[in-house]
Amino acid sequence: MIVFDLLCATGHRFEGWFGSADDFASQKKRRLLECPTCGSAEVKRVPSAVRANLGAQPPQPPKQLAAAPAKTPEMEGKDPFAIAQILYSKMLDELLTKSEDVGKQFPAEARKIFYEQAPARPIRGQATNEEHDELVDEGIPVARFPVPPSDKLN
Ligand SMILES: [Zn+2]
Repeated sequence: MIVFDLLCATGHRFEGWFGSADDFASQKKRRLLECPTCGSAEVKRVPSAVRANLGAQPPQPPKQLAAAPAKTPEMEGKDPFAIAQILYSKMLDELLTKSEDVGKQFPAEARKIFYEQAPARPIRGQATNEEHDELVDEGIPVARFPVPPSDKLN
């Protein structure tokens, strides 16, 4: 879903939720958009930070690991949930092929990288819940995946 800030002809500002930018355009064209305050169909989009909400958000990997892959034809016409799934699996693949598996050393290694005692590089590995929470408490950017990466590699 995408949230747009909208403005009616008499100046009421409100939010509209749409499946996509095209969805907004088509609703506007068919005059299905209405100001909730005065009912005016004279509605325009006002510039604002577009917030995308893909529902169940995949965990965000640390920035240096992977940028979100670009939209591809396989995503055309899919609902946001399906797209989130595709993006998620692409990110996972990216992580697996580009990161170094440090296994159970993960918490120690992540900490070293964070405190610049080891070369900065993408790593993956295992951490217990306690270790994960400690890393998060220290402000170290880690992402948790429901599927242990090693399972997917084998
Ligand atoms: Zn209005």
